[in-house]
Amino acid sequence: MKTFAYVAPESVEAALDALRSARPGTKILAGGTTLYDLMKLGIETPPAVIDVHRLPLASIEIGDDELSFGAGARMSDVADHLVVRADYPALSESLWRAASQQLRNMATVGGNLLQRTRCAYFRNGSEFPCNKRNPGSGCAAIGGHDRGHALLGGSGACIATYPGDWAIALLAFDAVVDVVGPRGERSVPLADLHVEPGDDPAREHTLAADELIVRIRVPASAVGRGSTYLKIRDRESYAFALASAAVALTLDADVVTECRIALGGVATRPWRATAAEQELTGQRLTPETARRAGEIAFAQARPGNHNGFRIELGIRTVADAVRIAGERAGR
Ligand SMILES: Cc1cc2nc3c(=O)[nH]c(=O)nc-3n(C[C@H](O)[C@H](O)[C@H](O)COP(=O)(O)OP(=O)(O)OC[C@H]3O[C@@H](n4cnc5c(N)ncnc54)[C@H](O)[C@@H]3O)c2cc1C
Ligand code: SF4
Repeated sequence: MKTFAYVAPESVEAALDALRSARPGTKILAGGTTLYDLMKLGIETPPAVIDVHRLPLASIEIGDDELSFGAGARMSDVADHLVVRADYPALSESLWRAASQQLRNMATVGGNLLQRTRCAYFRNGSEFPCNKRNPGSGCAAIGGHDRGHALLGGSGACIATYPGDWAIALLAFDAVVDVVGPRGERSVPLADLHVEPGDDPAREHTLAADELIVRIRVPASAVGRGSTYLKIRDRESYAFALASAAVALTLDADVVTECRIALGGVATRPWRATAAEQELTGQRLTPETARRAGEIAFAQARPGNHNGFRIELGIRTVADAVRIAGERAGR
C-alpha cells in the first residue's frame, strides 16, 4: 500500500486552508466509495487526502425558489426526502437506482458528481493502453470490447461513459454547483461541470484540484412533478446504466408545454437532448411522438463493435420515460 497523509478539518475555512497548502495530487475525501476504490486499484495515488465528512455540508433545504443540497448530504437522505420524492421524483429515483443501500448511506451527493468511469480497461487493465489512466498510451476500448462504451460524445482518444445517475437528473433540472476555493466562491452550471474527452481524456471536469463543492442548487420548477428517471441495466439493481433517461415535462391537456430530456449511460458526459426536447414541445403526447423524441436524441449516436444495440435500447428508454413523465404530469 502507498502511504498517504490524512487530515479531517472541522470547518470549511480549515478545509480551504488545508487545500491551499496541499501537496500536488492531494484529493478531497467524502464518503470514499469512489476514491478509496480507485486508490486500492492503484489508479489514484494521492500523497494526502482531506476528509470533508465533518464539515457542516449535509443540509437539505427546500425553498420556494430552489432546492439546496449540501455536498455532504448522503445519497440516501436526499433520495428519501419526502418533498424531493413527491415534487421531483426524477431526482429521488436517480439516487434510488444508483449503487446499493449500503453505498447510498455512505456516499455523498457532492462526491457522486465526480465519480470516474467504469471502463474496465481504465479500472482493471494496467496491461492495456488507456489515455485516461496513462495519457498518450492509446485506447484499448476503441476497436476492443466496447459493449458498455459511449455512443455520444466520444473522441479518437477515449469513448468511456460517464457512469453516474444523479448528474443526469440534475442536468434535466438546470442545476448549479457552488464551489469554494482559495480564489473565492463561484457557481458552475451542471451543464458546464463535466467535459467531453477530446484529446485529453484525463481531464473530466472543470473544477480545479483545490476547489471544494459546497452545495448543489436546483431551481424550483413546475416540471418537477411530471418527471422520472428511468434506468435500464443488465440486472434489476446494483448495476450501472446501459441507458438511462431523465425526463421532466408539463402538459396542457395532452399537449407538451415544456420538456426536459437528459441521457445517462450512453455518453462521455451527462447529455442533454435539446433537439429532442424541442421536437416534443408543442406536440400531443402519443407513443409516436415519444418514440420520435428518442430517435432524435440518438440521431448523432456513433456505435462501435458491440454497443450498437444500445441505440435502440436508448430510444425505447427515452420513449418509456416520456410516457411515465406524461402520466405523472397529467395527474
Ligand atoms: C459497487 C458500486 C456500485 C455503484 N453503482 C452506482 C450506480 O449505479 N450509479 C451511480 O450513480 N453511482 C454508483 N456508484 C458510485 C457511487 O455512487 C459513488 O462512488 C459515490 O456517490 C461517490 O460519493 P462519495 O461521497 O463516496 O465520494 P468520494 O469517493 O469520497 O469522492 C469521489 C470523488 O469526488 C471528489 N469529491 C468528493 N467530495 C467532494 C467535494 N465536496 N468537493 C470536491 N470534490 C469532492 C473526491 O476527491 C473524489 O475524486 C457505485 C459505486 C460502487 C462502489
Ligand atoms: S475508453 Fe477511455 S478510459 Fe477506456 S480504455 Fe479508452 S481511454 Fe481508457
